[in-house]
Amino acid sequence: MPTYIVLLGPPGAGKGTQAKVLAEKFGLPHISSGDIFRENIKNNTELGKLAQTYIHQGELVPDDLTIEMIRDRFSRPDCDNGAILDGFPRTPAQADALCKMLKGFNGKVDLVPFISAPQNVLIKRLAGRWTCRAMGGHVYHDKFNPPKQVGFCDIDGSELYQRDDDKAETVTHRIEVYLKQTTPLIDYYKERGVLVQINGFAPIEEVSKQLLSALGKPVEGK
Ligand code: ADP
Ligand code: ADP
Repeated sequence: MPTYIVLLGPPGAGKGTQAKVLAEKFGLPHISSGDIFRENIKNNTELGKLAQTYIHQGELVPDDLTIEMIRDRFSRPDCDNGAILDGFPRTPAQADALCKMLKGFNGKVDLVPFISAPQNVLIKRLAGRWTCRAMGGHVYHDKFNPPKQVGFCDIDGSELYQRDDDKAETVTHRIEVYLKQTTPLIDYYKERGVLVQINGFAPIEEVSKQLLSALGKPVEGK
């Protein structure tokens, strides 16, 4: 049976950072809807052109476009054993669509770690976030997780940049959008018995430990 893990949480909670750790531990692909949109914008595809205004303004991309994009991503063979989902679903309509899609692969959402952190912390994290230009979703922080060489990714050497939607005004709006459109998913997954609370206001390694223990994976060094 494939394994599907959905990371839920506000912008800046650490979903992308932790998705990388889990993807490696479980040998599953990390599927980040935000990364796929940004790649499409970079390559000037039709989807990229349709999505970019929403992303720039900190609004959600419409459900139909987003769901189609994820359906397409799931059709790739690396998803046969499951996936770590980061940033999708973000609305109840997306969660329903995901449930239907997974039924088609004989799967279901197995666990939903909900990573939370106080709003002032989220704002500080996003203000200092540096993202790798290569398609790999590597992220750094100028204070909390600095790269070895300023401006370059430790893993693939690509240039790091600050996302346009990480500027202060847009961040505040993205958090509002999250509170309105995505927080209903907390109850949605709680009712289905798959939600686990993770304290995201802890150092990166501590958060990884909480996640691995929730997922029943032995933590190294323990
Ligand atoms: P999300 O995908 O939820 O938006 P990211 O994983 O991109 O969050 O993390 C946001 C920023 O905060 C990045 O700059 C990252 O390096 C940093 N970060 C992630 N987790 C932590 C943590 N536990 N403590 C401090 N900084 C963190
Ligand atoms: P963060 O890691 O800070 O939470 P993401 O990289 O996940 O941000 O998303 C960046 C932007 O991409 C969002 O503000 C939104 O415009 C768009 N986006 C990403 N995922 C979705 C989704 N599931 N539904 C609609 N829009 C999305």
